[in-house]
Amino acid sequence: MPGWDGFSPRAWLRERYDAPVWADNHVHVMALGEWHEQPQPRRDLLFIEVGVDVGAGLVVDGHVLRGERGGAGAIGHIRVSADETRCRCGKTGCLEVTAGGWAILLKAAERAAESPTLSRMLRTGPLTLEDIGVAAREGDPVVEELLQRAADDVSAVASSLVTFINPGEVVLGGGVLNAGPRFLKTMDAAIKANGPELVTERLVVRPSSLSDGYGIIGAARLALDSILTPPSLARWLPSRTPLAHGAELQRIVR
Ligand SMILES: [Zn+2]
Repeated sequence: MPGWDGFSPRAWLRERYDAPVWADNHVHVMALGEWHEQPQPRRDLLFIEVGVDVGAGLVVDGHVLRGERGGAGAIGHIRVSADETRCRCGKTGCLEVTAGGWAILLKAAERAAESPTLSRMLRTGPLTLEDIGVAAREGDPVVEELLQRAADDVSAVASSLVTFINPGEVVLGGGVLNAGPRFLKTMDAAIKANGPELVTERLVVRPSSLSDGYGIIGAARLALDSILTPPSLARWLPSRTPLAHGAELQRIVR
C-alpha cells in the first residue's frame, strides 16, 4: 500500500485505546460477514468484490484464507491480458486493468467522445463510478462494452477459482452491483459453463446481500472469534476485561 509502508494501524490503535486490535483487508472481512449471514448449513464461500479495485475473499469452515502475509485473494493482479495499460501495482495485464473501477473510469473518459451520455456527464466534472452505474442502466454502448469486457475477464478468473476451490457459494459484491444485473449473469453463466459438473451442479452464484454493513459485521466477527478462543480467554478473563491485554492477545494466533 503506497504511502502506508512501515505504518502499523494495529499498533497505533492498540496504543491509543489500550485494547487488542485485529486488522484485515476489507474484502476478507466482507467475505467473513457474508459467510456468517448465510442460512444454515454454512458452506464454503468465495466472495468477489468488483469496485474501485478487484479482490476476493475465501472463507472455509468460518476461517478466512489470509496467506503468509495477508495478501491472499489479490485476484485483481492476476495477469489476464496483453493490455498495456499500467496497473496500480506497476505491472501490466492485470485483471484490474480491465475490471477495476479506476481503470473503467480512465477508459470511459478516453472514449467519452463516442458517447453523448458520457460527454454530457463530463461537462459537469470528472466521471465517477456513480456516473458509470447510471450510464450502464441507461444502456450506454461504450459503458456496456467496457463492463462486458470486465465481466468476461472476472468470469474467467472466477471460473478457474471455482474449479480449484469447489465452494458452495460465489458471492459478487462491490459497486458493480449498481450497474445492473448483467455482470452477475455473465459470471454465473461462465462459471457454470466452464466448471466441471461436480463443482457447479449445486453451486449458488448470487449478489451480495450486503451493504457495507457486512464489512463491519465481518470485522466484529474477526475480533470476537479471536478474543473468545480458550487461549485468549485464559489470558484476559481473570481481570474481567481484554483491555490492557492488547499485545499478548494479539500474539495468540488462531
Ligand atoms: Zn496489478
